[in-house]
Amino acid sequence: MNILIIGGGISGISAAKVLLKEGHRVTILESTQDLGGLMAKIANCRVGFKTFFDEIHDRRNLTIIKGKKIEHVEKNNGIYRVKIEGEGEIEAEKVIIATGLIPYDPVEIKGKRILTSLEYDSLIDQKNEKLPEDFDKIAFILCVGSRSKEYPLCSSVCCSYTIREIKWTLMRSNPEITVFYNDLRLFGQEFFLEKVFRERGVRFIRTNTRHFEEDKTGITIRFYTDGEIKEERFNYAVLGIGLRPNQSLVDLSKLFSFSLNNYGFVYETAPLTAVDEKIYICGGAIEPMNIKDSILTGFGAGLLASMGKEKINESLKHHEKYLYKEREPEFIIGKDANSYLFYIGTDDTFSSMFYEYISSRFLEIAKELVSSGKKVYIITKNLVVPSYGEIEYEAIKGEGVIFINLEEGERVEKKDGKVVITGGKRDLSFVVDRMVFMEDLLTELKTKEFLSFYRSEPQLRWSPTKWNRERFHAGFIRHPRAKRWEGREIIGALAEILLDKEEERVIPVVNEERCSGCGSCKDACPHNAIKITPVPKDVAIFGLLSNTLNPVAKINSDLCMGCGLCASTCPSDVINLPSAR
Ligand code: SF4
Ligand code: SF4
Ligand code: SF4
Repeated sequence: MNILIIGGGISGISAAKVLLKEGHRVTILESTQDLGGLMAKIANCRVGFKTFFDEIHDRRNLTIIKGKKIEHVEKNNGIYRVKIEGEGEIEAEKVIIATGLIPYDPVEIKGKRILTSLEYDSLIDQKNEKLPEDFDKIAFILCVGSRSKEYPLCSSVCCSYTIREIKWTLMRSNPEITVFYNDLRLFGQEFFLEKVFRERGVRFIRTNTRHFEEDKTGITIRFYTDGEIKEERFNYAVLGIGLRPNQSLVDLSKLFSFSLNNYGFVYETAPLTAVDEKIYICGGAIEPMNIKDSILTGFGAGLLASMGKEKINESLKHHEKYLYKEREPEFIIGKDANSYLFYIGTDDTFSSMFYEYISSRFLEIAKELVSSGKKVYIITKNLVVPSYGEIEYEAIKGEGVIFINLEEGERVEKKDGKVVITGGKRDLSFVVDRMVFMEDLLTELKTKEFLSFYRSEPQLRWSPTKWNRERFHAGFIRHPRAKRWEGREIIGALAEILLDKEEERVIPVVNEERCSGCGSCKDACPHNAIKITPVPKDVAIFGLLSNTLNPVAKINSDLCMGCGLCASTCPSDVINLPSAR
């Protein structure tokens, strides 16, 4: 078949990989002069994209057209005849829309010292030998251009990107860092990084009102938190800008006759599908998503275009033994009480990985309860409802569920039959018929053996569903989150099974001289392959050599699966994956 992929970013290239493997002729049409989309704009991802793309760049069946737009489309006998400016006409039996996401441009607040996260990325790029001289006090501001009246979605990735930018910053320098956030919508192992940064003195302030004044020497930020307006000076402010749908979708939807939703993304009629058996979608054309999910949906859209829905269902039967889906546990809350209080918060880093799952489940339950006339409170330390989840959250607020957001330092406890908020300036207490705490449910969940596999969620992003060669994860077990993801993940996992692109395992190497023994890699490793072991080391004390024992990370190569998580989690960046992609 001839297949046209519109968009040459990571999701489009992933779709191409599957299609070329299946023997199709693929044309990638990229409207700009460069492949790679947003991913190629991030210094630490550029090489990764190039290596990923290099695997297919010289395939005979691949044509790449750059810097061109579609002028006209006609459909005859099920074949699209697509007229491309300056290129004539091409024919395609199937089309994949992979137009990606466009970063929001906050023209109204940007300045010389107020930078977008992408501009800041260039500033701290290792290619720049020197950082600015006054690189002493940096503010990271989250939710810029998202979760607003004008664009109500959560952009899903800006909290995660900020956590990485903090890591890259601390690898180069040691400025004072403050993060102004609404919620910390992190995923999986990123919560371990948050913990390490807090311990290193990074300050987190919960606020959603921020006002900036820039002058020659810095920025004054005024913000409302803990019941009062405060003011503080910074040298630089980094805006965690949101990601929006590509405007080209408006024209494409008319040319190819598919629908867009209210927010400008493609309307998904079935998993990864815009027009049954004809037009498929992946990556940021569907909703804001990270690189790993862009690859996953790209693989899935590629497989759908290649095989069609029916054959996929058939193939799933044959490959069932490789696909691991765990049944989602059922929470029985009961409807017999009149008032309920849910608490979404934990102090345990491992439990934090369930924020997204618990948030969406509690919102669903609260919605049901409030619609049957019950009084419902939700206290949140961190509400993780990315992308369209934010719309659902706002809708539930409108339906009468009362939300109370905790300030930093506040705690929630059960005391004398009440729920109390302490540790901050306000003392609040609630008397309700039923109290449901996130940790109570997790305690029960944690007794189940399969929960250890939750750690598989942040698998190496190039193989987003692969746990090992015999086992590919999808749905609840891979990433406990909103239900719309399950169908996409199953198709993506099947694509990976069929690709069966098993690479040589790459065992990471720890630079023991520089390892601080902090243990973050050990916590991050989903295969328990790391031990912190004391090793003798000569240390000079007043000119005399003394032999001491220093804890360092040791990797057990028999257990290591080469997933690379330890390397991406190490705050000192002392773990290398030799010739890893
Ligand atoms: S991921 Fe969501 S919560 Fe986090 S900064 Fe982006 S829009 Fe805000
Ligand atoms: S390798 Fe990195 S994360 Fe692991 S103990 Fe050493 S410094 Fe910590
Ligand atoms: S690369 Fe090996 S040691 Fe590192 S996290 Fe993955 S399995 Fe563990």
